[in-house]
Amino acid sequence: MKRLTALLLACLVAAAAFAGCSKSAKKNDTSAASSAASATADEASKPASTSDEAMADGIDYMVLVNKTNALPQDWEEKLTTVHMTNSVGVDVEVEQKAYAAYLELKADLEKENIYVDLDSARRSVAEQQRIMTEFIEKYGAEYAAKTVAQPGFSEHHTGLALDLYLIVDGQDVTENEDMVQYTDIWAKIHEKLADYGFILRYLEGSEHITGYGYEPWHIRYIDDPATAKQITDEGVTFEEYLGKASSNEVQIDLGTSEKFSQDELEAAAVTIKCQFAAWEGCELKSLRYAGDEAVTEEKLTQLKAKSPSLDASKVVCFLMDFSTSETNAETALEPNRDYTDYQWWLSKSKDGWQIADQGYGA
Ligand SMILES: [Zn+2]
Repeated sequence: MKRLTALLLACLVAAAAFAGCSKSAKKNDTSAASSAASATADEASKPASTSDEAMADGIDYMVLVNKTNALPQDWEEKLTTVHMTNSVGVDVEVEQKAYAAYLELKADLEKENIYVDLDSARRSVAEQQRIMTEFIEKYGAEYAAKTVAQPGFSEHHTGLALDLYLIVDGQDVTENEDMVQYTDIWAKIHEKLADYGFILRYLEGSEHITGYGYEPWHIRYIDDPATAKQITDEGVTFEEYLGKASSNEVQIDLGTSEKFSQDELEAAAVTIKCQFAAWEGCELKSLRYAGDEAVTEEKLTQLKAKSPSLDASKVVCFLMDFSTSETNAETALEPNRDYTDYQWWLSKSKDGWQIADQGYGA
């Protein structure tokens, strides 16, 4: 119950930043994503041995998984985990090296009479999918997309993200709203993280970069204490350290519509953003609703020819500006080019928005 509450809270915070993603984003070429991440780290003359050593163990401890970077496809088969039972009797699964490091951290904290335990760590993609399905059945696709982290895009999938809780005067403090009160205790915990290869993942005031509000309990194992110390000392997010933070805020303009509510348009924008997230090496600049009048009879005829079951009364068009890089993996796109007014056509059914067409002159 607590886990679901925490998940919901984290997601609600992020809903405004278009947190939810569509299933289609799953085709993300994640091997490219993780190699790009380590290349960026190397370029910035970070200790190159980190990722090499990590790779030898089977997984890349510097992997970036967030709302736009999916879990690498072969991650779950490479992952080695251990199970533990926490003080409230819940089974928690953690990546093995991360767990060993956590035990050292915990022992060190206990010397200062600080007591922590693991609330949750690894959550499989299948489990996240189950939660998503449950929400879709209960509340509908639109609400689910906005409130539940998209399967494949949660750092908890890695087994390297740990949610701590506190034990204060022998009492378990597990609710987020209670835990945040203990700022002194968290400060002492955070001070020690880097020594054991952990970083604090969702920093205060970095919501626009991480997609999550401040979470003093969510720590991330990256293996190398020197790198962890550098990230901590620089006071940057993991995204910024890896050079994977979007440099400027993406402009989303939902415009106005007589036919669709702002919630519906937002859900459509989320669908597009998540499809776009799979376009490795491309950077989104802006996305705007093209207006009700953009949907012409001619266009509808064209779309109907493609998908006869499409509901002509529920079609929208969005325009996107984005750029491609040298290494973009989408073969249909030219490298190093700025695209403007790229069209996304979506239609709505009972399962939510689907992409009906995209491109120029589409
Ligand atoms: Zn967490």
